[in-house]
Amino acid sequence: MQPTEWDLNPKFDFRDEHMVREGEKVSLAKIPTEFEGPFRGKEHGRAFAAHAIAEIQELQYRMYTEAKQSLLIVLQAPDAAGKDGLIRKVLGRMNPQGCRTYPFKVPSSLERAHDFLWRIHQATPAAGKVSIFNRSHYEDVLVVRVEDLVPKSVWKQRYEIINDFEKLLLHRGTRILKFYLHISPEEQLERFKKRLDEPTKHWKLNEGDYEARAKWGDYREAYEDVFEKCHSEDAPWHIIPADKKWYRDASVAAIVRDTFRDMDPQLPPLDADLDEIRRLYERELAKQ
Ligand code: ADP
Repeated sequence: MQPTEWDLNPKFDFRDEHMVREGEKVSLAKIPTEFEGPFRGKEHGRAFAAHAIAEIQELQYRMYTEAKQSLLIVLQAPDAAGKDGLIRKVLGRMNPQGCRTYPFKVPSSLERAHDFLWRIHQATPAAGKVSIFNRSHYEDVLVVRVEDLVPKSVWKQRYEIINDFEKLLLHRGTRILKFYLHISPEEQLERFKKRLDEPTKHWKLNEGDYEARAKWGDYREAYEDVFEKCHSEDAPWHIIPADKKWYRDASVAAIVRDTFRDMDPQLPPLDADLDEIRRLYERELAKQ
């Protein structure tokens, strides 16, 4: 069935629906992990996402040619919440000439010999570009806190340092969007099972994922502090219900599209004499 105009442009503000409220303490337990928003099921969500992605591609092209603004997209989530799927199906559809994904793993010894933002800063987007962070500087107040990797006196100071760092990026003309993919522990276990059953996914398995499940509550608490301390209208966190993969994809596509629309990138002004170029073209054509 052909999607209608309403199907592709439902009157629904995804940013407002999922954005953390400034100064309000988030309780993740109270936010549903399953949600369908304005959609009439999976087919509708997928058609909407495809439409939104096409517009993202158009706007990214403009931003690339404009070469002034840039966009940083931060992805954080529990294991198997779908960061990779979201990159593959939505964010990775941007033109790779102007977009790059950076996965942040356990820091190397060189990275550890520097401040925690050293490796991050190098990956921030240049003018006209998009950077996608698959994990990020927030690991330094999440896993580092929960696993006790540095003393509390150290990680506690990092919220303010992160806010100042993000202000620096904003000051330079970089828009920041931060997404937390919110899944239930039951859905996570279901996805672990699928990985066990599927040999091509075995490489994703590790014991650490199960150890992290035992600390689900600690991670939630650490995330809730991040949402309270490191959210602002300029560098907002969005909590995306991610048990349904298609809703995750559609809602993030909508939020990225709406942000690009706000940025309103413009093709650069003409820097050549069009009449002269037409004349040169005609001359070459006549020679053929
Ligand atoms: P992913 O789960 O993102 O697909 P991996 O399975 O390789 O990728 O996991 C990356 C690991 O690196 C995660 O366990 C994450 O917590 C860890 N990590 C990322 N950044 C840091 C950091 N700054 N300090 C310690 N561990 C980190």
